[in-house]
Formats: sequence, C-alpha cells, structure tokens
Amino acid sequence: MRKVAKEEADLLIERASELLTIRGGSRKPILGKRMRDLGIIMDGAVAIRNGRVVRVGKTDMIREKIESSNVIDASKRVVMPGFVDPHTHLVFAGSREEEFEMRLEGASYLEILQKGGGILKTMRETRKAGKEELLEGCRKTLSIMLEHGTTTVEAKSGYGLTTEDELKCLEVMKLANTEHPIEIVPTFLGAHAVPSEYKDNTAGYVDLVADEMIPEVAARKLAEFCDVFCERGVFNIEHSREILSQGIRHGLAAKLHADELTGFGGAELAAEMQAISASHLLFSSDASLQLMADQGVIAVLLPAASFTLMTRLYANAKRMMELGVPVSLGTDYNPSCWGENQQMTIALACHQMRMTPAEAIAAATINAAHAINRGHDIGSLELGKRADILVLNVPNHRFLGYHFGVNLVAKVVKDGNLVFDRESDRNLISEESPPH
Ligand SMILES: [Zn+2]
Repeated sequence: MRKVAKEEADLLIERASELLTIRGGSRKPILGKRMRDLGIIMDGAVAIRNGRVVRVGKTDMIREKIESSNVIDASKRVVMPGFVDPHTHLVFAGSREEEFEMRLEGASYLEILQKGGGILKTMRETRKAGKEELLEGCRKTLSIMLEHGTTTVEAKSGYGLTTEDELKCLEVMKLANTEHPIEIVPTFLGAHAVPSEYKDNTAGYVDLVADEMIPEVAARKLAEFCDVFCERGVFNIEHSREILSQGIRHGLAAKLHADELTGFGGAELAAEMQAISASHLLFSSDASLQLMADQGVIAVLLPAASFTLMTRLYANAKRMMELGVPVSLGTDYNPSCWGENQQMTIALACHQMRMTPAEAIAAATINAAHAINRGHDIGSLELGKRADILVLNVPNHRFLGYHFGVNLVAKVVKDGNLVFDRESDRNLISEESPPH
C-alpha cells in the first residue's frame, strides 16, 4: 500500500474530551436556541499552521493526515476558542475602593457621579497620569485577562474627556496592542460623562466631542467605533444621536451604553442608528428590543455591572433570545466593576440570567466577536480562522459557569503561539510570545 505523505502542522492539539468548534456563526451571530449547539467534537483535534486553524475533526482522522513535532495532549479536557471581551474600559489610573464602601452604605451610582466622584474621579487621575503609567496598568490588566482565557478585547477611552487626554488614552491602547499578545479593538468614548468644566453646559461638551475629538480620532485611525453613555442625567437621546451620527460620518461604527439605569430610549436609538451593538439594556421594553432584533443590533450584556451595582436587576437575556436579539457577554471591566475574567461573566450569566453554559459560551465567543466586527476571523474554531484557543482543566463545557471563582484555563494559544501555560513555571508572555 502506498503511503501518503502527511501534512506538517506547527501545532496539533488532540484528544480533547470535548472540542467546542462553535461553528456556523462566522457570517452572522448565532441566535436563540441555536446557541445551545456548540458544534462539539468528542475526542477532537485541531491543527494549526501560520497562526490559523487548518484542520478540525476527530483525533484519529486528523492524525491520518497531519503530523507535528509540537503536540498538546488535551485528554479529559475541553478545547475551545479564546474568549472575546466586547466591552471594557481598559485604560485608567487610580482606583475607587472608598466609593465601593460608600455604595455598600447606600449611596447610588448617579449620586456619587453628581458629587464629582465615580467616572469624574477616575478622569482627574487619568488626566494626571503619563502614558507610561497608563501603559503599565494596561499590561497588568491584559496579562490577567489572557491568563483567564481572553484573547481579544474591546477597549473604550472615556476617562480623559479632553481632546488631548482622550487621544493619550487611545494611543496607550495602540502601544499596548503592539506589545501584548492580546488583540485590542479600540472604541472612542469621549461621551462617557460630562467633565466638570462643562457642568451646566452639556451642549458645549457635545460640540467639542463631535467637532473636535471625533475628526481627530478618525484622522489618526485610533478607533473603530464611537460609543456614548446614553442615560438620564448624562447624554440625552438628542445629544447621543448627534455624536453617533458624527462618528458614522467619520467611519466609526456606532455603539451605545443604553438603558442601564433607567428606560431612556437607548435601545430604540441603537436600532435607529443601526449600531453594531448596545450594552446593558436592563430597562429596555419588548418593543425596543424587537427594533434591535430587526436591525441586527447585538446586545452586549454585562452581568458583572449589575453584580457590582448591587441593584439585583439583570438584563433579560432569555427574553432577548426569544425575540431574536443576538446576545453577547462582556466584563465591563472598569474601576467600579473591577473584574477581568470572562469565566466570572459566564458564571453570573448562568446564575443570574438563567443562560445555559452553552448559551453563555456562544455569547462570550462568536457573538462577542461579532459585537466588535471580528466574527469572520475569531470566536470559533473553523478553517482559516485565527488559532486563538483555550485548553480548560475540565472534562466538559458545563463546568464553565458551574465551577466558579477559580481559573479553569490550563493553556492559552494566541495566533498559534502558546502564550500561557499553567503547567509551566516560565512566564511565556514576556519571554517568548511575539506580539500578534
Ligand atoms: Zn461601559
């Protein structure tokens, strides 16, 4: 019998008890009950060449065609795509642990903001900080995210709130993106809060964001999206529309913080603007969610934000799924919701929003990738996609959400390179991983 020469792979991960391909959603997010089908291959293998997935299937079948000198045995473990975090406020200085205590004593988020705390406190500290200090903070955060399985992260500006300081924060993201294995997808959020110097002159600040900041950010290609904190007492519908329209004119797709603290028409505006995503959505009506579904606006649900607001109110993920709204999950990492870990997001989504582990996994991978316009490239293990892959120390995917409060990630592969390995004492991030 003639022996067929085998193809050589740069890396082969094999014998996974469950290989979650999450196939079928590369063109559009996965909707409703279809989120329960993770395209699981038992005893699965994935072969990687030049940072991309070249084969996926049963280990025995892959082994007939592929050989590699670099093999990871994933016996009794889950192999899945890296988490995508579609909503973070990555760049900031300082911390707000005193406000955490004030909120435990009963002060509300908006009360603290109106007294110059909250976002405005972080803004003052971020304005004072130099690029190197901010970059150092980013490096630490990104490494924690990577160790917990996040391989791509969206990051918003919004703690500078002057043209100069917003550009500074976006430039820090750009630097971090070139030196860290995680890919950072930048969003301009100049309309995060009205800074103190524009108190009682919101319209003046909106003009600054629209006429000066957005053109400058777009000209320097520092962001892909433009976001607004659309909320009673912050930016109203009219102002939000003005800013998002200007963003679209400059090539920045629209995103919104919508209906987080009150039902304010944010979801309707997201549909009207054909935004790529709308986040929070705690107070959105069925009618407004239906408009989002009709326009394909992706819901970015942030259960850790509800957890840290301590209001016991969570977005109605199941209702959104029934109505055909594409649902994704993110951390909302920021100084009042200080958590980097998408596994924690999944645990909260299961326990507080009654999503099944499979639904939550699809929401934190392929649908999250679509929420940042990367669904064609990441979020599932399919031919040609980037080899962003996790090996989890659990026998099946239901342990995500179920076994909480610890890190289930054993290994992280980014663009085909092993960048985190719990079983190794070496710090792979600083020693050998090239920037993607
Ligand atoms: Zn946010």
